[in-house]
Amino acid sequence: MAFGFFKKKDKPAPDVPAPAPVSAPTDAGPEEAAPAKKGLLNRLTKAISKTRMILSRRVLGLVGMGQKIDDEILDKLEEAMIEADFGVETTGFLMDVVRGAWKNGTIETTDQVLPFLQQDLKHRLTHRGNALRFAENGPTVILVVGVNGAGKTTSVAKLAWYLTSIGKKVVLAAADTFRAAAVEQLKTWSQRIGCEIVTGPERADPASVAHRGAERLLELSADVLLVDTAGRLHTQKNLMDELRKIHAACAAKKIAGAPHETILVLDATTGQNALNQAEMFKQAAQVTGLFLAKLDGTAKGGAVLTINEKVEIPVKFVGLGEGVDDMQAFDADQFVDALFDLKDLAPAKAQP
Ligand code: GDP
Repeated sequence: MAFGFFKKKDKPAPDVPAPAPVSAPTDAGPEEAAPAKKGLLNRLTKAISKTRMILSRRVLGLVGMGQKIDDEILDKLEEAMIEADFGVETTGFLMDVVRGAWKNGTIETTDQVLPFLQQDLKHRLTHRGNALRFAENGPTVILVVGVNGAGKTTSVAKLAWYLTSIGKKVVLAAADTFRAAAVEQLKTWSQRIGCEIVTGPERADPASVAHRGAERLLELSADVLLVDTAGRLHTQKNLMDELRKIHAACAAKKIAGAPHETILVLDATTGQNALNQAEMFKQAAQVTGLFLAKLDGTAKGGAVLTINEKVEIPVKFVGLGEGVDDMQAFDADQFVDALFDLKDLAPAKAQP
């Protein structure tokens, strides 16, 4: 079978940003890479600015004044969120949280609503652990799954870029052999990023490409194998079969514990649809983390909250644009602070 290799180039092409930008921790430990703390806040804030501005402006008059909370105020808050197109799902979820806290006495006045929500949401978004998990010993294998058009290929390239930028030697396995264009796209990315890629003939068994990828991972003593699976949901059985074979391919190469992550790429602009996909993939595969692509393209950035809550899989990365560096390891603190920018709300307190 003719597998292709693209060798790592000495230097990344000029249109690729220099590795290790501020998003990348340089001292990532062997088990987990800590998310970035600085530098990309503005970018994230900008990406979710549609959601943020809507939320801030509409909710401003309702929660800034420090009145006693009552049912009427909560109904108005709910209306404002729905009118602001925050999304029925997200509004419902947020209001349940607020109502619950009011009923059990955690909050009493309107000025406590947003600080409480911030704290509560940060906990909900972080308690499952958002950092990418690496193998304790030896190389790490990461599978990437998702439906066509979700942004899977781009997100695989982004992950390769991110991992390279934190000093990992990466091998890509372009196992989505049913889409020649996706393989070509990934080849181009790999050349720009400067990482090796393993490809197979069109329509080859994806597991065979993953197998060859695992071989190259070991031959090169690389750190991470990223497998772009064909794992779409034609049928759940289809996906499960493919993943099972990939597991077996890794086991055959004695890569302990592989795959160490199975990342599901979801299109954040699709709301309910993304939720449904997450549920289905969860049933078919052991998804360990989410990559929410296209967060820059939605006025419903709050969807991150509902997806996190409903599918109970931690958000690990967000996509913030079409470029290979337009991504960020998900940082819940930054995200929630950006979503509910309390500084925006401050003038309301001074108003009569
Ligand atoms: P795939 O079919 O799931 O492999 O999806 P692709 O990776 O080919 O992406 C589909 C489209 O979404 C392409 O035009 C990408 O450039 C675009 N895309 C992917 N991720 C993002 C993102 O985070 N933000 C934006 N704005 N576009 C993205």
